[in-house]
Amino acid sequence: MGRIVLLEEHVANKIAAGEVVERPASIVKELVENSIDAGSTRIEISITDGGLTEITVFDNGGGMDPDDAVLAFARHATSKIRNAADLENILTLGFRGEALPSIAAVSRLSLKTRAAGAVSGTGLVIEGGNTLNSFETGSPQGTLISIRELFFNTPARKKHMKTPNVEAGHVSDVVNKFAMGYPEISFQLKSNGRILLKTPVNGSLRDSIAAVYGAETARDMLILEAANDTARLWGYIGKPSLSRASRSHQTVYINGRFVKNRIISEAVEKAYHGMLMTGRYPVFVIKIALNPSEVDVNVHPAKTEVRLLDSLDLPEFITEAVSGALCSNRLIPPAAVPKKVFPGIKPVKPVQEVWEPKFNRPAPEPDSVSEMPEVDYCSASEAATSVPYVAAETETAARDMVADSDPGFPWLRPIGQINSTFIAAQGVDGMYLIDQHAAHERILYEKFMDRPEEFIVSEQLLFPVTLELTHQEVQVLNENILILADLGFVVEHFGGDSFLIRAIPAAVVKNGAKEIFLDLLDYFSRNRYTISGKALKEKMLIIMACKSAIKANDRLGMPEIESLLNQLADTRNPYTCPHGRPTLVHFSGYDLEKMFKRVL
Ligand code: ADP
Ligand code: MG
Repeated sequence: MGRIVLLEEHVANKIAAGEVVERPASIVKELVENSIDAGSTRIEISITDGGLTEITVFDNGGGMDPDDAVLAFARHATSKIRNAADLENILTLGFRGEALPSIAAVSRLSLKTRAAGAVSGTGLVIEGGNTLNSFETGSPQGTLISIRELFFNTPARKKHMKTPNVEAGHVSDVVNKFAMGYPEISFQLKSNGRILLKTPVNGSLRDSIAAVYGAETARDMLILEAANDTARLWGYIGKPSLSRASRSHQTVYINGRFVKNRIISEAVEKAYHGMLMTGRYPVFVIKIALNPSEVDVNVHPAKTEVRLLDSLDLPEFITEAVSGALCSNRLIPPAAVPKKVFPGIKPVKPVQEVWEPKFNRPAPEPDSVSEMPEVDYCSASEAATSVPYVAAETETAARDMVADSDPGFPWLRPIGQINSTFIAAQGVDGMYLIDQHAAHERILYEKFMDRPEEFIVSEQLLFPVTLELTHQEVQVLNENILILADLGFVVEHFGGDSFLIRAIPAAVVKNGAKEIFLDLLDYFSRNRYTISGKALKEKMLIIMACKSAIKANDRLGMPEIESLLNQLADTRNPYTCPHGRPTLVHFSGYDLEKMFKRVL
């Protein structure tokens, strides 16, 4: 007799659960996806002890009729695709028909559901995959699913759960992503009875971002919008000042589905190049609409990874769009107005908001790109062939841009120098302080980048500069002598540990040659095997810009100040130095009045 047997369905379900149902957060993800696919406008999630004791998800979507409610728990039972060809054109979040049977196999589940228009609803109780009860019941339209005692029959898996707090954190991450992915749906998340998240019905994307990251962050995000023949891109990107130490605040959606995709993240980050310090990552919420046949969503059990066709040239398109959004926006950080001017005086009120979150307001009119047709896109029959662009949406987006977009580098009338380090200037609204070194660095950096042939050419020194190097420096020099020559440095051995710099790049100020050269050697030794020629050249330009720029404590006359401000205004990114520090800060008239208690 053969030894191979087909597994019983409930065993197969437990195995499938190992893939789909990793932890409470993955259950929440599957259930919320179902609620979204069912057309809900309100979804309420509640967890007890991080979801380990109980998870409930309630929605007001289409519900299920009695037969479907039972069938939904059969393996590979789905209403979302009919045949293999449909896999090429997936417009729903679910499609495998695996989630419900897998979840039911490892928990005690109860369900109540009523289809739109039906007089009564259906109740089901399933424990460890066995249906204990099914009955007719009263129920609001929609579906309520409750999962208790997760993994009660798979103790090995249960052992792998973290503390309730950690699990609750994962659940919260998942719900946050849905909330920003679907601003038109009102989400509520409760953990042990406490509300962790609540978003408005028909809110804008900015409202959802505010609910998740706070109003202040939402205010500091810039609108992003672009389209080409194959893709449409929209969302919000953080000003460089919002950067974080990790990628935790980066969210990407493709056709309404949250995805993790390194290539896309890097394409966005590339646009921030030269604006962020190393080790800092931009914040963004980006949505991409693609023809579904260009995206393979069936590559990962949790459907969080997608495969994209290379031919889309998506990374280049993204980098360009984000660069455009960054360049066309004024990125000057407002001065942090001191909360307390003198001890004993009560703190001033926060700065008045331009954009306000819409919570507690009755059904607000759409005001941002979030109302763009994610849903239309998914349901439109022509979706497969075209990327939709509706005039009205462009209009609403344009309206939102008014608050955001850049009127250009501010007009500035210099007043003078402060501590020989900062330049004070009057603008249209209030005062600007400019860091003279950072500003000059930016000017020189762009000059060097734009015309390397002019600045990297080698220039013979009239009087060679002598260098005494350490043993290690000599080694690094020998390894990189050709690269250095390529950059314009001609160096000669002079006996022992002594060397002569005979020629330097034209951009280097003569008396800075030694310092720049030593900085470069230091940079080589720290990044020995990791740098590419291009990165190196850029690094050198940054070092050269830094060393050649005017310094703090350099006295400047008015003509020099004026010329500096004019040149800064002409740069592509006048708002940060090449290391990512701000070149200027702004004290608005309102800030100044507040500091002097003229307004409260
Ligand atoms: P899939 O989502 O891949 O189809 P699931 O196991 O998650 O598979 O769900 C099975 C089916 O049950 C779905 O196709 C849908 O028809 C139905 N269903 C599940 N959850 C809901 C819900 N909240 N509202 C309405 N129908 C639902
Ligand atoms: Mg599903």
